[in-house]
Amino acid sequence: MELDFGSAVADFRDEVRTWLDEHLVGEFAEHRGVGGPTDGEAWDIRLAWDRELASGGWLGIGWPKEYGGRGLGLLEEIVFEYEYARSGAPYRATGNALDLLGPMLVAMGSEAQKQRFLPRILAVEELWGQGFSEPGAGSDLASVRTRAELDGDAWVINGQKVWTTFGMHAHWLYVLARTEPGSRRHKGLSMLLVPTDQPGVEIRPIRSLAGQDEFAEVFFTDARTSVDLVVGEVGQGWRTAMGTLGIERGSTLLPLQLTFEREMDALLRQAREQGALTDPMLRRRILDAWMSVRIMRTTNLRTVAELLGGRTPGAQATTAKLYASTNHQRMGHLAMEIAGAAGQLVQDGYGLDTRQRSFLISLAETIYGGASEIQRNIIGEQVLGLPKDPRPA
Ligand SMILES: Cc1cc2nc3c(=O)[nH]c(=O)nc-3n(C[C@H](O)[C@H](O)[C@H](O)COP(=O)(O)OP(=O)(O)OC[C@H]3O[C@@H](n4cnc5c(N)ncnc54)[C@H](O)[C@@H]3O)c2cc1C
Repeated sequence: MELDFGSAVADFRDEVRTWLDEHLVGEFAEHRGVGGPTDGEAWDIRLAWDRELASGGWLGIGWPKEYGGRGLGLLEEIVFEYEYARSGAPYRATGNALDLLGPMLVAMGSEAQKQRFLPRILAVEELWGQGFSEPGAGSDLASVRTRAELDGDAWVINGQKVWTTFGMHAHWLYVLARTEPGSRRHKGLSMLLVPTDQPGVEIRPIRSLAGQDEFAEVFFTDARTSVDLVVGEVGQGWRTAMGTLGIERGSTLLPLQLTFEREMDALLRQAREQGALTDPMLRRRILDAWMSVRIMRTTNLRTVAELLGGRTPGAQATTAKLYASTNHQRMGHLAMEIAGAAGQLVQDGYGLDTRQRSFLISLAETIYGGASEIQRNIIGEQVLGLPKDPRPA
């Protein structure tokens, strides 16, 4: 797909293309198409690539200049992300800090926090993990039990987090903790920035289905962080957390879809080579998958047009996560079926091919960032106005 973003950004688009052409070479070019939000593959190369991007000034292009960003607008962000996906450059290893924590700090951090952390995120000097989920608090995040108590000028933290993506690489974690003893549900929570390099923080990697250490469980035993490292107000962590989770990045919609289009092309090639198109049942499912990618393109373009027009995206934006994750999973199943017995085989040392890795990672896509059942509740309640799902008291 070739999109025309108009003459206003033509020079910018050319600049992005030229830079990517010149820098996406050698080892970086060999890792085209590698990675995803929770994919730890080729971590070192991807981190080096992030640093290459940083040296070119391509991280945080929408962030304020005073903190190391380029202060550009949403259109430039979209153009950049689009050209980035088009080039097939590896998925950015530090996406979590760039897409979630950074915008949260820009919106809600103190001036000191912004100056201290944002430039280091953009320089890929400090890596971050998100410490929200706990064994008893995933979909029901308000059940967070990790607690933090004030001791002089420090918060003392005790509890456990789980599924912290790339937690074992993190120098810092942003942690949702209960800071008012006896408080319940959404009340009395705070968002703390916690350094991992201290005796009170133990990080244990968890091996994923794709055979990688891509997330971790984190144990806090009297871990400490400075009193001024609360983001937003003390006791208002729920609001801060929801701000993070709700950060809508219109700029990520088109790139994600480009990835799906590439995978669809590969699936079609594979189907042709293996004669799957002559099987009426498979043929029909392949057509469904192809149509779902087209539908995604249309709805994403609609959302992007609304964002660029300064309007609040319509109901279709609420369905985007559910639609993308369920269809991607279906595509993965289909690719595995077309591959037949060969799809079950791995290389020595659990070496997966791109198709197998993508399929396994797609199984997590309907869970992280809000499980599909939760997305359906949101659509039912907020878009369709259906009666509310019963909530824990
Ligand atoms: C790959 C991956 C990376 C992740 N990275 C991070 C990270 O970096 N940091 C972090 O903090 N967390 C992370 N998570 C955790 C993720 O946010 C949670 O897994 C998710 O919120 C679901 O919570 P849970 O696993 O506790 O499942 P549960 O909440 O126990 O849900 C189990 C099942 O019950 C369903 N369910 C629950 N409540 C309802 C309801 N009210 N109505 C209908 N169905 C319901 C769910 O949809 C799901 O199908 C990650 C998860 C994955 C898979």
